[in-house]
Amino acid sequence: MDNGLLDTILHPHHDKPAWTNWAKNQSCHPTEIFNPETLEELTKIVFMAKADGKKIRCAASGHSWSSSSVTDGYLVVVNKMEKVHTPIWDNDLKSWTVRIETGVLVKDLDDKLRQNDPPLTLPSNVVLDSVRYGGVLSLGCHGAATKTRTLPDLVSEVTIIDANGDLNTFSEAKNPEEFAAATVNLGLLGVIYTYTLRVEPMFNLKVMWEHVPGIVPYLRQQANERFDRFEAIRKKYDPNGMFMNATFAGILGH
Ligand SMILES: Cc1cc2nc3c(=O)[nH]c(=O)nc-3n(C[C@H](O)[C@H](O)[C@H](O)COP(=O)(O)OP(=O)(O)OC[C@H]3O[C@@H](n4cnc5c(N)ncnc54)[C@H](O)[C@@H]3O)c2cc1C
Repeated sequence: MDNGLLDTILHPHHDKPAWTNWAKNQSCHPTEIFNPETLEELTKIVFMAKADGKKIRCAASGHSWSSSSVTDGYLVVVNKMEKVHTPIWDNDLKSWTVRIETGVLVKDLDDKLRQNDPPLTLPSNVVLDSVRYGGVLSLGCHGAATKTRTLPDLVSEVTIIDANGDLNTFSEAKNPEEFAAATVNLGLLGVIYTYTLRVEPMFNLKVMWEHVPGIVPYLRQQANERFDRFEAIRKKYDPNGMFMNATFAGILGH
């Protein structure tokens, strides 16, 4: 890549960077806001943060109401990491899969999957198509169907750059425990680079309204179990808290 362009991305010129989420209930003034386009740029940002003693938070479309992107350190906006690889049939998983970069829009993946032969889709998805997979999967978003699980349950592999700048690959086959935490990482394990998602041939949908008894306690129990497993793994990949902020430190009991 052109060194001048890389320099502009890594050293953006601004007076006072500011970030606000979509709902405008969260805002912050990071030291720097980065808009990387490649793995090389992402990795350099992590090295710079390490050298400067800065913490990193990430943001995608900014539709979360939570403070998960709020920082006075480095903010990495992943919206230019938008590559969608060609879907493949995975013989081990007995499923179609598609590998995507973290900043891919829900709408864009939908459009690309439709163009495949056969046309493909996710079995369930969030209602908004202007959000991005990094945001949707990191925070464990639910879909809009009762017979499917959360969207992170569709992930078969995730790659994350950790606090040392190393790219780690998490998959169920490699280490189910770490993989479970990596899929719903709350942005605390590092910067997500790619996800591989299980997708399926398009199907007809029937919409029904029905009360599902006991769904809230069930979801709460699922969340608590994931949370405990996650914290143990976070400490391994981010021992010095480069990806933590005050809010998450509070939530995780630090
Ligand atoms: C009108 C509206 C409707 C919604 N409908 C639904 C719905 O139907 N179902 C549902 O479950 N949710 C729904 N949501 C919630 C929304 O889907 C989530 O807040 C989702 O996280 C937003 O995605 P985003 O791209 O805006 O992510 P952002 O809000 O930009 O990011 C969320 C977090 O993801 C993490 N993150 C993102 N990218 C990376 C990365 N590369 N590396 C590390 N961490 C990363 C960061 O911690 C970041 O703070 C809705 C929200 C709105 C405003």
